[in-house]
Order: sequence, then structure tokens, then C-alpha cells
Amino acid sequence: MMLAGIAVGRTRIRCAIGTGPGDVHATAGFPVTSPDETVDRVTRYLAGQQERYGEVTALGLSCFGPLGLRPGEPEYGRVTSTLMTRWQGYDLVGAVRRTLDVPIVLDTDVNSAAMAEWSAGAGRGLGTVAYLTVGTGLGAGAVTGGRPVHGRAHPEMGHLPVARHPSDEVAGRCRHHRDCLEGLAKAGAIAARLGWSPSALGGLTGADLDRLPGEAVRLEAWYLAQLTTALTYLLSPDRIVVAGVLMAVPGMLAALRDATVERLGDDPGVTPVVTDIENYLLPSPLGGRAEILGTLALAGAALAPVRSE
Ligand SMILES: [Zn+2]
Repeated sequence: MMLAGIAVGRTRIRCAIGTGPGDVHATAGFPVTSPDETVDRVTRYLAGQQERYGEVTALGLSCFGPLGLRPGEPEYGRVTSTLMTRWQGYDLVGAVRRTLDVPIVLDTDVNSAAMAEWSAGAGRGLGTVAYLTVGTGLGAGAVTGGRPVHGRAHPEMGHLPVARHPSDEVAGRCRHHRDCLEGLAKAGAIAARLGWSPSALGGLTGADLDRLPGEAVRLEAWYLAQLTTALTYLLSPDRIVVAGVLMAVPGMLAALRDATVERLGDDPGVTPVVTDIENYLLPSPLGGRAEILGTLALAGAALAPVRSE
């Protein structure tokens, strides 16, 4: 059983072929240009790999959202709305199928990464695993019973409404809500608060991150703890796996653990979390590879029977 995966990012598209996240035979990455050109390059690469590794039986596909994920609806398989205008309304699944006509499972970038953590990472084999990434953007996904969580549309956990810190006077940077979690906690928000000149994407570079003041780290953790607390109360995950450039800042994970414990307080309902926070909030062992590895897990889940636990 050979599986393929494609992860569409804003600047780079990645692909992989293998039998699962733990057994990858080949990977490749290409710069993102026009949608058709980008997808054609990656699907032709994968089609060529079949001669060496065998015919692909299913393909996992992840992309930045929002995406149409409900089969049968007109929006299914499409990038429904994005700041990247050339991709707006693009029929991603249809484009991949032109070259690789196999069962295709589409999901969000963060749900794909959550699948990788559940399948081969820090949440391996557990019942419910959440994944949170914080960088130029902020997003979270979740897997329960081996399946990514979505329903009418797909979760957009980064847009969680949050309380603003009393000391924070800088305007939130979400273009939909201003003051949601992403608007207050993505890299561009930190840069704005510090008076640093943010790049066009509103990001921080590695050099900036090394000189992030402790106060900024604690404020970031204070915001992020509102999502880890919400995840705890809404999903009761076995693990929350964290990733992204901001989570790699020295002291950030420890600050997030502290802030989460403080916010959960003495509620006996969450004692198992509070008393074992080091094993609850964990860094991703997969790093930047989580999303592409997750596409192989998505493909594998497409062929496996639905678990009923
Ligand atoms: Zn928002």
C-alpha cells in the first residue's frame, strides 16, 4: 500500500511518498507560483515516483484554509477564501486528481499536523490530540479517534475570542476580528507591541526571537493559555502538542505551562492536567515536518475503517 501526500503552504509546496509518517521513501519541495503550475509540478513528481515505489493507493492533501471540506457541496475541495488572490476558489482536489486519480483526503494544515502527532509524534496512539502552532500565523487542529475534527466547516481555533491583557494597548491584528487570539498573539502582534518593524507578513525573524524580552514571552504565554484552557475544557485532549517559531523561543513553553496551570486554577475537574502539565503540553518532536508527514496519515486514515471506541 503506497501513500502520497501534498502539503500546500503559502510560499512552498511539499510532497511525500511512503507507507505512512514513519516510513517515508521520498520527499520534495517546490516554491509556490501560480496554482496550476505549482500543483502540476508536485503531482508530476509524485507520479514519477510511482515507477520506483509502486502505485499510489490514496493521497492526503493539506492546505492553508479556509477550505471546503464537505463532500457533495459545490465548495468541496476548493480553497474558499484567502489573501492569496490567485488561489481564491481554486479547485485543489480537482487539480491534483488530473494527474493522480486516487482517493484524496483534504484537510487543513493544522489538522494534518495533528494527524502526524497522533500517528507518529508526541501524541502517538492516544485518543484525542490537539496541535497548536504559533508563528507568523496562529492555528490549532485536533484529532480524535484517529480522525481530524471538523463538522459543518472546519475549526478555526486561532480565531478564538480572548480577553485582552490590561497592560496591552496595541490594536489586535486580525483582519476579521481585530482582538481574537491570532490578532493578539501572532508574531506580527508581538513585533507591533515592541515597536519593531514587522516584515510584510507581520513576522519576526530568528534573530528577533533571540532578543524577545521576558515580559513579551510572559504576555504571549498569557494569551496562548486562553486557547490551551479552552481546548482543555472543550476537548479534554490527552496531549496538546505545540510547534512554530514562537514556541521555540527559550522559556516560552515553560511560560505557557505556568500560565495554563494558573488559568485552570484549583478546579478538581482538571486536576489530571494541572498535576501533569509537563506531559500534557509538549513540544512537537516532528518540527517543521509535521504537516507533510500528516498528509500520509490522512491518506492512511482514508483506507482504514472508522474506529468506534
Ligand atoms: Zn480573528
